[in-house]
Amino acid sequence: EEALARGAEGIGLLRPEYLFFQHGTIPTEDDQTLVYTEIVRRMGGRPVIFRTLDVGGDKVSDYLGAKREYNPFLGWRGIRFSLANRALFKTQVKAIYRAATAGRAKLMFPMITGVEELRQAREVCAEAVEELAREGRQHAADLPVGIMIETPSAVLAADLLARECDFFSIGTNDLIQYTLAMDRGNSRVSYLYRPLHPAVLRALKRPLDAAPDAGLWAGLCGEMSAETRLAAV
Ligand code: PEP
Ligand code: MG
Repeated sequence: EEALARGAEGIGLLRPEYLFFQHGTIPTEDDQTLVYTEIVRRMGGRPVIFRTLDVGGDKVSDYLGAKREYNPFLGWRGIRFSLANRALFKTQVKAIYRAATAGRAKLMFPMITGVEELRQAREVCAEAVEELAREGRQHAADLPVGIMIETPSAVLAADLLARECDFFSIGTNDLIQYTLAMDRGNSRVSYLYRPLHPAVLRALKRPLDAAPDAGLWAGLCGEMSAETRLAAV
């Protein structure tokens, strides 16, 4: 409601982690479907982009087995966690496909580093659709599926990734961290968090060129996109 009152035209990145961390238990497919459907319904035809679970890194939850690591941002997080927990991942994907019938929704994967991961994640989507059809549950089989471009490898492989998905969303928080080799959560190196660093601007340019070349759109998320001055650049 608050987003709508402030003139939101959609939800560019819905972080579902809160639903998993709130109660310390894994929400069932039906629990998730209820919440997601309500969000899509309330957005009344405006697009809602659901990101699949991005645990690990700065979003740690012991009960999911994502323990503290020496290099958490290079460790077991995002799509890596989901592909290692396929059943949990598929439950979430099925809930998103079901919720998408209530309006306009899209699905995207975090922390993609290459085509193999994207193919494996899409395989889970295909299985989810097949199961929903078999179970006779309403779902939006044609849901657009996109990826976050937030690792340097995804930037460098953007043209290859563009052939196998429907849109890009550039995650500037992580992309800046990984491009400039600075921990986004460490105040001692926060002076290095420079969205206008030429390396960052070059990292943005490649996927922004690759997307339209392949007939895709690309969006920007992360703090950088919330700054009018930076968005203009
Ligand atoms: C990002 O990395 O820019 C992003 C939006 O995702 P998160 O901040 O949740 O890692
Ligand atoms: Mg991120």
